[in-house]
Amino acid sequence: MSGPGPKDVVLVGGGHAHVHVLRALRAEPGVRVTLVTRDLVTPYSGMLPGVIAGLYAPVQAHIDLAHLAVATGAQLLHAEAIGLDRANKRVMVADGAPIPYDVASINVGIAPALAPIAGAAEHAIAVKPIGSFLDKFDILLARAGRPYGPRRIVVIGGGAGGVELLLSIRSRLMAQACATAFSFALITDGEILATHNPRVRAAFRQIFAARNIVTYEHARARAITADGVELQNGEIIAADAVLVTTDAAAPSWFSSTGLALNVEGFLAVNAMLQSANDPDVFAAGDCAALPSPREKAGVYAVRAGPALAANLRRHVHGEPLQAWRPQRRHLALISTGERYAIGSRGVFKVEGAWVWTLKDWIDRRWMQQYR
Ligand SMILES: Cc1cc2nc3c(=O)[nH]c(=O)nc-3n(C[C@H](O)[C@H](O)[C@H](O)COP(=O)(O)OP(=O)(O)OC[C@H]3O[C@@H](n4cnc5c(N)ncnc54)[C@H](O)[C@@H]3O)c2cc1C
Repeated sequence: MSGPGPKDVVLVGGGHAHVHVLRALRAEPGVRVTLVTRDLVTPYSGMLPGVIAGLYAPVQAHIDLAHLAVATGAQLLHAEAIGLDRANKRVMVADGAPIPYDVASINVGIAPALAPIAGAAEHAIAVKPIGSFLDKFDILLARAGRPYGPRRIVVIGGGAGGVELLLSIRSRLMAQACATAFSFALITDGEILATHNPRVRAAFRQIFAARNIVTYEHARARAITADGVELQNGEIIAADAVLVTTDAAAPSWFSSTGLALNVEGFLAVNAMLQSANDPDVFAAGDCAALPSPREKAGVYAVRAGPALAANLRRHVHGEPLQAWRPQRRHLALISTGERYAIGSRGVFKVEGAWVWTLKDWIDRRWMQQYR
C-alpha cells in the first residue's frame, strides 16, 4: 500500500458485484473509489429476458453507472481496461493514461466464445456477454418485421439462459407479427436445463411442445452457415437467425496480467475473493474462479457484492479478511416468456403466475437500490 493519504480502490467493470461495492464504500474514511467502465449503463441479468419479451422497458433493467458513481461519490472513468501493470500498480486502459491503484477489483463478466463452432463468428448472434446483446436483438426484431426477414429462429445452448431467451424471443416475435410465420428450435449438446431437476426439465419440455418449439437434445452444433446449423451427426437444421448462448470465455487480457488463472483462463481467487497470487487484486462475478466453482450466474455475482465490499474495506484498513462461502444451490426463477415462471432448487419445483410475480418483486427491489 502507498503511504499516508486516501487509498485508491479502482473498480474495473460495473458488474453486479461492483454496483454494491460503490454503495458500500460510499463515504468510507481513507478510501477513494474509481470505477473504470467500458459501458455507462449495465444490464441486470434477472430482468433481461423480461426486456426481450417486452415485459419491461430497457431502462427498467439497466443501472446508470454514471449516476450511481455521482451518488456514491466515486470517480468514473469511461474506458475499457486492457491490462494491469502490477509492478507499478496501474490499470491500463485503451486510449487513456494508466490509472494508479492501491487495490484493484475486477468484475468485468465474460467474453463471447464462438470459436468452437465453425462459422459462428460470421453467421451467429452471440448472446453473451449480455451487455451488448440488446442492440443485436433490436436489429433482429427490426429485420423480423420485414416481409422477407428471418422466420426460422434457432438458439444454441440449453441452460436456463438459452431456454428463457428462446421463450422470450418467441413471445416478442409472436406479439409483433403474424402468429404462424415463425418457427423456433433449441439445440443443446446435453439435456435441456441439465443442472436442474427432472420435474423442471419435464415442465419446460411440455411448454416447448405446446408452443411447437423443436428441441434437439444431445445434439452438438458443428458449424453455422448462412442457411442454418450443421450438427455433429451431419443433420442440417435450416435457420435464418442463430443465437448462441453456450459457455463463454474469459476476457483475453487476463492472460497478460500475470495473475493466477484457472484452466479456462478466469481469475483464480481465494475464498476472500482475493487473487490467488496478488493480495492487492480482487475479483468477483463471472470473471472470477472461486476455490469451489459455482455456476456463472448473475445471482452469484450479486451475492458476492457484500463480501467483496467488506473485504476491500478490511484490506485497505489492514484488517483480517473473511471467507465468503456462497450456497451451492440457489433458487432459480426461470420465466416462460410471459408473466409466468418456474422455480427450481435442488429437487424442488414450483410454477405459476405467482412465481413470476415473486421474481418481479425480487428483481425490482434489487434494482431500486441503484436508482
Ligand atoms: C439471456 C441470458 C439470461 C440470463 N438470465 C439470468 C438470470 O435470470 N439470472 C441469473 O442469475 N443469471 C442470468 N444470466 C447470467 C448473467 O447474465 C451473468 O451471470 C451476469 O451478468 C454476470 O454478472 P457479472 O457482474 O459478473 O458481469 P456483467 O453483468 O457482464 O458485468 C460486467 C461489466 O463490466 C463491464 N466491462 C466488461 N469488460 C470491461 C473492460 N475491459 N473494462 C471495463 N469495463 C468492462 C461491462 O460493461 C459490464 O458493465 C443470464 C445470461 C443470459 C445470456
